[in-house]
Amino acid sequence: MTNAPWAARDEAAREIERRVGLRAERDALLAAHTTMRVGGPADLLVTVRDRFTLRGVVRLAQSKGWPLRILGRGSNVVVSDAGIRGIVLLNRSADVTIDAASATLSADSGLSMAKLSTLAAETGLTGAEFTLAIPGNLGGAIWANAGAHGGEMSQILQRVVIMRPDGSEEELGPDALNLSYRHSRFKEAIGRGEVILGATLLLRRGEPAKIKAQLEEIRRWRREHQPLGIPSAGSVFKNPPEGPSAGALIEAAGLKGRALGGAEISAMHANWILNRSGATAAEIRGLHDLCIREVQARAGITLTSEIQFIGEEPA
Ligand SMILES: Cc1cc2nc3c(=O)[nH]c(=O)nc-3n(C[C@H](O)[C@H](O)[C@H](O)COP(=O)(O)OP(=O)(O)OC[C@H]3O[C@@H](n4cnc5c(N)ncnc54)[C@H](O)[C@@H]3O)c2cc1C
Repeated sequence: MTNAPWAARDEAAREIERRVGLRAERDALLAAHTTMRVGGPADLLVTVRDRFTLRGVVRLAQSKGWPLRILGRGSNVVVSDAGIRGIVLLNRSADVTIDAASATLSADSGLSMAKLSTLAAETGLTGAEFTLAIPGNLGGAIWANAGAHGGEMSQILQRVVIMRPDGSEEELGPDALNLSYRHSRFKEAIGRGEVILGATLLLRRGEPAKIKAQLEEIRRWRREHQPLGIPSAGSVFKNPPEGPSAGALIEAAGLKGRALGGAEISAMHANWILNRSGATAAEIRGLHDLCIREVQARAGITLTSEIQFIGEEPA
């Protein structure tokens, strides 16, 4: 049984086209817009390519009280098989300004991290090399306080421009972002409904050859240690504050390689769940819940999710 489409969608599609000049796609499958390659339809999918239209769609939705979910690259989410009601906004707003003298990079939140790391390297700026490992965009990386290879967004964020649910905008410094291990204010009640429009990163002048070598090393490490090329959302659970890593705990619980339908706990890295062949979101969820139950039973440790399950439950 499928859920009925959202009642206001025809009006919303008309208004988005009339006021912002963008076409909203009906029933677009979100599997195509997430790295896990699962997820049912969005009532309306709108892609924005600049900050002006990003603001326009968010303001319109806020003023009308329409449900809106912003997605970057969909690399940290599992969208339910029933999909998402309301508007899904795909953020591809990606203007960048780099000032080599002050070693700052300012960008819209839809800039991909891969592009960001390359641009910084080309300008001879160091500090952002780790972002090459993160297949998301700047907004998603700030939301997650993403990190890898000893680097983390909290180390380089100078300020973030947000839009509040009432349409007002504000610039926030790092102290206001509540950044800690894979956590930010945007995961808390205070930041709910806030949209990240852009950010400025403070980097350092570096030696181009060293930066290039560091990027190469990150590429090599990832190829050797991560099951790349198979749909996933990266690490599923946070590493517990003390004790073994989430991957080691899942492996010790005997779950490495366990399959459910088309989903599989990676045999290479037990903290990754892979979409091996046409998995459903329910199957991914099933393996995720199994890991929590078994690790709790065997090690007495409660795993907490790094990935986010979003969308409607089936009717
Ligand atoms: C192969 C692979 C490897 C990975 N490796 C790493 C890694 O090494 N380190 C790491 O930290 N993560 C890693 N990840 C996870 C993921 O890439 C990061 O969490 C990334 O920062 C998510 O960005 P995104 O644009 O894809 O966000 P999405 O998944 O699109 O969104 C995540 C959440 O952020 C919200 N959001 C997105 N944009 C905005 C915005 N502009 N304003 C407000 N809210 C917003 C969304 O609504 C959603 O709730 C990996 C994922 C994969 C698939």
